[in-house]
Amino acid sequence: MSEAPKFIPFALPDIGDEEIEAVCQSMRSGWLTTGPVTKAFEKEFAQFIGVNECLAVSSATAGLHLALRAINLQAGDQVLVPVNTFVATAEVIRYFDADPIFIDIDYDSMNLSIEALEIYLKNHDISKLKAIMPVHIAGQACDMDPIITIAHNHNLFVIEDAAHAFPCKYKDKLIGSLDSDFTVYSFYATKTITTGEGGMLIAKDQSHIDLIKKLRLHGISKEVWDRYTSSKGHLPYDVDVLGFKYNLSDLCSSIGRVQLKKAQSFYAKRSKIANQYNEAFKNLDLQLPMQKRLDDQHAWHLYLIRVNDSSKRDSIVDALNKKGIGTSLHFIPLHLLTYYKETYHLSEDLFPTAMRSFQSLISLPIYTKMTDDEISYIIESVQELCS
Ligand SMILES: *Cc1c(COP(=O)(O)O)cnc(C)c1O
Repeated sequence: MSEAPKFIPFALPDIGDEEIEAVCQSMRSGWLTTGPVTKAFEKEFAQFIGVNECLAVSSATAGLHLALRAINLQAGDQVLVPVNTFVATAEVIRYFDADPIFIDIDYDSMNLSIEALEIYLKNHDISKLKAIMPVHIAGQACDMDPIITIAHNHNLFVIEDAAHAFPCKYKDKLIGSLDSDFTVYSFYATKTITTGEGGMLIAKDQSHIDLIKKLRLHGISKEVWDRYTSSKGHLPYDVDVLGFKYNLSDLCSSIGRVQLKKAQSFYAKRSKIANQYNEAFKNLDLQLPMQKRLDDQHAWHLYLIRVNDSSKRDSIVDALNKKGIGTSLHFIPLHLLTYYKETYHLSEDLFPTAMRSFQSLISLPIYTKMTDDEISYIIESVQELCS
């Protein structure tokens, strides 16, 4: 057995001297808020995905909020959301006094179940339904073709929560370049690339892009940067819509530009760890992440295993913790969270597949800062506990 390293946290950002230097440069430049560095970051991110334009925002939550505002979501409207996601996906719907409609997941992918989606649509009044928000859990793409077809057939917007999905491919195409209305990424500290806090939004429709550009900065019709630097300089601005403070600062974007350059090598490293795990765990009393489409690219933001005997899950998590290995749970199905349970009177048995998946789930560390020794130690510990 490898010697126990000191505690291996569940997640750690990978920040190098280049990021630190970039932030210093940004600070020395005298321009701290949204400006030229954010513009450059947007341009480079758009090039990476292969789209015309990206909009930097202060978080994925902000981006999802802006997307729902752009489609003019109203109180009493409904939006379809997988029950297995982080709370941000549903919370933004509640900002409008609109209602998230939870859909059960597909056991293998842990993503929105197309079957459950179709059953819901067939059996309910859907006159208030406005959008569907697929979430690429762990970095595994949702089955987007049927989702987009269903959305078109029912006149629904598709807003992809791509917080785990950079860089992730569905049928050889990068998430963000598909035919959905919006895609929103997160650069939160634990995500595959980080700006500390931050996010990026891609929208298909030019009118949505133009509106969100205003909405993310108080509804001001001209970007502040243009106001202070262009020769037209000090023209008065106007506000014709209620805006938000959801812009991304140049300090954050300066980290993001460096992280973006490293995104492929970060991905290669996570993918190598995932392959090592897959190989080492294949004969254990576990279910491993399952990839059905061979032309997909799993972003490996998370590595989720499920123990065959769910009654052993908690003791395995405890034992891993005692061995100095941090784990997590992704995710507590939203219908179990008090706010949603009480607001919508939801019972536990409403989403049997999400429950079955959740009860056996362990999320293992998978990040670029892990050393070979740490990876071996985790592998040996899981082998010992799950054989
Ligand atoms: C992290 C996360 C978010 C929120 O991202 P922020 O940038 O922190 O707002 C949204 N959805 C999912 C699935 C996430 O994991």
